[in-house]
Amino acid sequence: MPMDMTLYPPDWRERSRAAIARAGSRCEECGAPNRARIARRRGQDAWREAGPSDLAGGCEDGEYVTRVQLTVHHVQPARAGGSHEPANLRALCQLHHLRADMAIHVANAAATRARKDRERRAGAGQVVLL
Ligand SMILES: [Zn+2]
Repeated sequence: MPMDMTLYPPDWRERSRAAIARAGSRCEECGAPNRARIARRRGQDAWREAGPSDLAGGCEDGEYVTRVQLTVHHVQPARAGGSHEPANLRALCQLHHLRADMAIHVANAAATRARKDRERRAGAGQVVLL
């Protein structure tokens, strides 16, 4: 999700790098190595190293190729007061970071839809009660 940098300490970059190093530069959920090109099936945890034929677009059906970019997840979200200490941080690949934050993404999407709906109704001259 977009990072609200006001929630992060000035040394966040160093803390983030340390968390990734502590994890051996692998996703702590699926073990995918940082910056590796991998192939995986949509919605599945399993992955394999992508080979030359995968990179040429020859993936098996249902697979996609991606480059792993580890990011650091707060187990207790920073915006909910979660600390930036190692015990609260996990290095995760894109898939697993998205999954870890899914409830927050769903809540944010619902709030955005509600706000846009209020703005649309207000713009149309309708009385907005909520
Ligand atoms: Zn992962």
